[in-house]
Amino acid sequence: MSSVETHSSSVHHQAASAQQFPEGRVISCLDKGFVRLVDSMGSDAAIVQAARVSYGAGTKQVSEDRGLIRYLMRHAHSTPFEMVEFKFHVKLPIFVARQWIRHRTANVNEYSGRYSVMHDEFYVPEGAQIRPQSATNKQGRGDETLSADESAHILDLLKTGQTQAYQDYETLLDRNVARELARINLPVSMYTEWYWKIDLHNLFHFLRLRMDAHAQYEIRVYAEAMAEMVREITPLAFEAFEDYALNAVRLTAPETRALKRLLSAHDLDDAALLESGLSKREMAEFRGKVEKIRAAQ
Ligand SMILES: Cc1cc2nc3c(=O)[nH]c(=O)nc-3n(C[C@H](O)[C@H](O)[C@H](O)COP(=O)(O)OP(=O)(O)OC[C@H]3O[C@@H](n4cnc5c(N)ncnc54)[C@H](O)[C@@H]3O)c2cc1C
Repeated sequence: MSSVETHSSSVHHQAASAQQFPEGRVISCLDKGFVRLVDSMGSDAAIVQAARVSYGAGTKQVSEDRGLIRYLMRHAHSTPFEMVEFKFHVKLPIFVARQWIRHRTANVNEYSGRYSVMHDEFYVPEGAQIRPQSATNKQGRGDETLSADESAHILDLLKTGQTQAYQDYETLLDRNVARELARINLPVSMYTEWYWKIDLHNLFHFLRLRMDAHAQYEIRVYAEAMAEMVREITPLAFEAFEDYALNAVRLTAPETRALKRLLSAHDLDDAALLESGLSKREMAEFRGKVEKIRAAQ
């Protein structure tokens, strides 16, 4: 636990020079949080190295590293991506941690409110993030902003509640109530810290879900910070992830039938496909998919 506290006190200092090196890099998140890359194992080369064990001579056809990584990602050959690992130190509000912890494939060690006194640090959203309930998405906030007066009033309410909760917490500690009980009325806006270690395949799964527009803004901020670090260490894998997972679209069977109707009026000429950025191999794969769509019942 003491090591967590030591790290947190040095983080703001590190943040200033964080851009220069990937290991130990810190990106500030929200008002008081951060993601710090503690350690990583492997790079694009580790993915290629592992893949070549399983494909052996077959990889001669896709001998170039970038091509191989893109092939693996496109065809969901995921285990070579598990050869790369990332360990992050994260400071985040408890409500973000609750969403984050649902990703079960990571190793986690969190600050203990039973062992240590919780710090007086709470997430206070920026005024622009204080929005009404979305009219179309039951799980999210809408696009409209509130008047300056209304948002100031709401911020005030949030801060007052946080201050009161922390004062009560201190009162309970002063009365020698056990730390594990004194903390039970603290709000989920309070910051916690953890170490979080995960392999690249599962990290990409996390990023695909948590960088998506449907994810809550506050967890998206952290996902985007980690994505920046991952892009630096495994640029080829990240590019493949962007092309074949993050920005790819999965169609349902009814959507496929709808697309079939659209496609039936059009021919696919090679020049147009090349202009779309498809390699020759991807073009062939795409034509295969289009045939499947055209054959959809
Ligand atoms: C926008 C959004 C809204 C959400 N809303 C809600 C909500 O309202 N309520 C709620 O409860 N949750 C909600 N969630 C959480 C969601 O249901 C998942 O629990 C979370 O995204 C983790 O996904 P996962 O299980 O695929 O990931 P991980 O736990 O990271 O697992 C990765 C993959 O590993 C495999 N795996 C992991 N553990 C097991 C296991 N024990 N058995 C079998 N396979 C396993 C699965 O294939 C899984 O897809 C939401 C998530 C998002 C992104």
